[in-house]
Amino acid sequence: MKLDEIVEWWNSLERPVGGSVPMEYTTQLRLKLAPLMQSFYPKLSTCERCKWPWSLAAAHYTKIGPSSEVSCLCEICWDVLGDVKRRLPYYKKRWNGAWQNVEWRDIELGLEREPQYQVSYSY
Ligand SMILES: [Zn+2]
Repeated sequence: MKLDEIVEWWNSLERPVGGSVPMEYTTQLRLKLAPLMQSFYPKLSTCERCKWPWSLAAAHYTKIGPSSEVSCLCEICWDVLGDVKRRLPYYKKRWNGAWQNVEWRDIELGLEREPQYQVSYSY
């Protein structure tokens, strides 16, 4: 999708009077812009969910031991996912790929210690 098509899509979204675009569209916007963002940093790895490169997305770090932490989601994605059940699949995918020296149980425990909250929307 070209940038002008993305802008057109964004401008066509319904907004409540005096309000902003509903949150679920910001996730869709991030995904549509991901190829463009990756083109600026083709060699960087990305958030497992929105696919934005780490230079453009703040990583969320999860403590899994006294001096170790892992990251595979940006702060925005970590936040909108809301709880450990919705976050775990992304960590599992990344863990399977590259973190073979990290115990899976340590990741689960680390994620369970972090803030959880009810997500009232679906992405
Ligand atoms: Zn993200």
